[in-house]
Amino acid sequence: MVSISTNTPTSELQAIDAAHHMHPFTTAQDLAVKGARVITRAEGCWLTDSDGNRILDAMAGLWCVNIGYGRRELAEVAARQIQDLPFYNTFFQTTHVPVIALAAKLAELAPGDLNTVFFANSGSEANDTNIRAVRTYWAAKGQPDRNVIISRWNAYHGSCVGSGSLGGMTGMHAQGGMPIPDIHHIGQPHWYNEGGDLSPEDFGLARARELETAILEIGPDRVAAFIAEPIQGAGGVIVPPASYWPEIQRITKQYGILLIADEVITGFGRTGNWFGSETLGITPDIMTIAKGLSSGYQPIGASILSDEVAATLAQVEFNHGYTYSGHPVACAVALENIRILEEEDIITRVREDTGPYLKKRFESLTDHPLVGEASIVGMMGSLALTPDKATRAPFEAEAGTVGYICRERCFANNLIMRHVYDRMIISPPLTISKKEIDILIERARKSLDECYAHLQANDML
Ligand code: PMP
Repeated sequence: MVSISTNTPTSELQAIDAAHHMHPFTTAQDLAVKGARVITRAEGCWLTDSDGNRILDAMAGLWCVNIGYGRRELAEVAARQIQDLPFYNTFFQTTHVPVIALAAKLAELAPGDLNTVFFANSGSEANDTNIRAVRTYWAAKGQPDRNVIISRWNAYHGSCVGSGSLGGMTGMHAQGGMPIPDIHHIGQPHWYNEGGDLSPEDFGLARARELETAILEIGPDRVAAFIAEPIQGAGGVIVPPASYWPEIQRITKQYGILLIADEVITGFGRTGNWFGSETLGITPDIMTIAKGLSSGYQPIGASILSDEVAATLAQVEFNHGYTYSGHPVACAVALENIRILEEEDIITRVREDTGPYLKKRFESLTDHPLVGEASIVGMMGSLALTPDKATRAPFEAEAGTVGYICRERCFANNLIMRHVYDRMIISPPLTISKKEIDILIERARKSLDECYAHLQANDML
């Protein structure tokens, strides 16, 4: 048995990683040539790698480390809970204090009458729960044919077979037999790429009305629910035009279909309120949460149900659950994370202070020749890269080629910024300071400059 520690040389760690560890959403043979960057420690917004580089994490891990890295309180709570009660299930008429306390806290925080929580370990699992919950809900109401769920192209709702089917990522659908039946996709409110000559407002309305068209085509008595992220995250931080959500809300209400807001990214302060639904004026029947719920310190996700959905489901045995639904350690850590968000008033700071500052600095990047648009709400934002700002034209190179080049420059400049096709995206810890925001913008600009120079040198503009 090889002995492996943070003292093992990077090249050795990379070789063993390549030999035995398959990475998500990665072409393994390409990564094996290059070697994965080994992250060894993290504090605040900063990662340290095995070569001692300090990297500014403008993605909060995977959009999840909302309170920043290195909070000892969470480690202490986890250690205590592991000693007191490391595990017990909630299947067979038993419960425990952390799950009770977290469910009650979430009922208090979630808007409207979202008061009942079904726990999972991730956003993917929670969305799989939602598929079965909404279909079971309609069956319990005597409408078992209402089983179609409408979603959107380029949505991301997870990687399980159900949640991956809900998502609208064609690259995912191409592998492994997705989507499952009775999932229907409509267009996304992505004005920059798809809006053509329409104004953002007209385009937002047109895209929302695709929902009505789909409902009428499928048959209103066949449609169970519509699911959407308030702001698409993994699709490229796409902020919908202001006309979009009110029209969606009107349509779901008019046809009596359930509205699921996937708040896995937008929850827990990311948009400057506890939930993106509050920022965008949405009243969902079900909310999916994960990520910021525990700031990523423990894997946990959940579906929060409205009183009406919960009361209907309560009439049947819902044959669904995960061994670790409501895991006591994850619940205790999530509660402590929420305590910190509340007591340190982190979300107010995002809304009133650091969020507006980041917006101003981020939008200043639109003077760069490559940046056609900066979209940002709270602490999630994106830059559209284009060779022609006036026409919003795509690059000649395959979509994502330029984004990848830019991301590689960011990586080299010790800034974690992700690309989705040719959009550069950020989602930093909510605790990022103004000084760190300045560093983020400075490194992003340097990376954009280097990317631009590369494109010029290689005749790619
Ligand atoms: N929904 C949304 C909106 C997400 O962004 C993600 C993850 N990026 C998921 C669901 C899936 O969550 P998980 O990766 O925890 O399964």
